[in-house]
Amino acid sequence: MYHRIARVRHDPWGIAVHPEQFEEQMDYVKRHRSAMPMDELVHQLSTGTLPADAVAITFDDGYRDNLVHAKAVLMRQGLPACLFLATGYVDRGEFFWWDELATMILESTGPVQYEQMCGVETILLDWPETDATDNAASEWKAWNEPRTARQKAYLAIWRILQRSPEKDRNAVMESLRLRFSKMQDPLAKPMNADDVRSFLEGGLITLGAHSVSHSALTSLSKAERQREIDLSGQRCRALSKMPVTGFAYPFGDMNQDVQRDVAACGYSWACSTEGAWLTGEQQNLFELPRIAVPSAPLQTFISLL
Ligand SMILES: [Zn+2]
Repeated sequence: MYHRIARVRHDPWGIAVHPEQFEEQMDYVKRHRSAMPMDELVHQLSTGTLPADAVAITFDDGYRDNLVHAKAVLMRQGLPACLFLATGYVDRGEFFWWDELATMILESTGPVQYEQMCGVETILLDWPETDATDNAASEWKAWNEPRTARQKAYLAIWRILQRSPEKDRNAVMESLRLRFSKMQDPLAKPMNADDVRSFLEGGLITLGAHSVSHSALTSLSKAERQREIDLSGQRCRALSKMPVTGFAYPFGDMNQDVQRDVAACGYSWACSTEGAWLTGEQQNLFELPRIAVPSAPLQTFISLL
């Protein structure tokens, strides 16, 4: 499971793999594993014919850096991959909110002191000028205890926004944009429709759906959830002019109701973010586990595989 292929200053969720490391990883996969498209992997899993060294490569969200840094590597190696696209961000011209939030808060050059409203909650933002502690803190990961005031604020706001209705989330982001400097990185932009079509060119890459607004699906009403699941698939079909058989849950957030909705919308399988190997005993095609690939030396990648 990949997200970004890029070098970034703050990566609290560990989703960015350096382009050189990605290239090494793909070279290794090509030489030592049987890489196959997701549909093929699911088919072979269902028929009990999946080889032990089978691998499928996936990308989540639809970052522009995938086109710039991953496409040529995949083509050169002849490696198939699946892109799970959050379709609402295509052509919206906005960054993914979690990246924008990280840039605004973690890279803010203070001082800041005010109370940020987040729906019914209030988060105190209070820190001085950037200091040495903040510079040393760029390696921080969000699953570790936040240490600086910026990290604490980032995580508190992220936790609220991750489960907020899209309208409320947009309102909070809009108010933050008025106070903090704007995110610039063009490679962090979501792909637009032309980018997606270029990414798919060559026939090695297929699309899977990843919802419209990238909302946590268990936080939505049944009607909203079904709309997110169904419309994102429709948009993927329109963009790729191909059947779209797979889905990936935003944030890995799902339960049995969500799985049933995904199946009812006509998908044949879905990926979770549970970090585990696929085994021959996997019965449920609507919670296929994936290994999150970190930006790390090749040896780490090999151990993970
Ligand atoms: Zn995602």
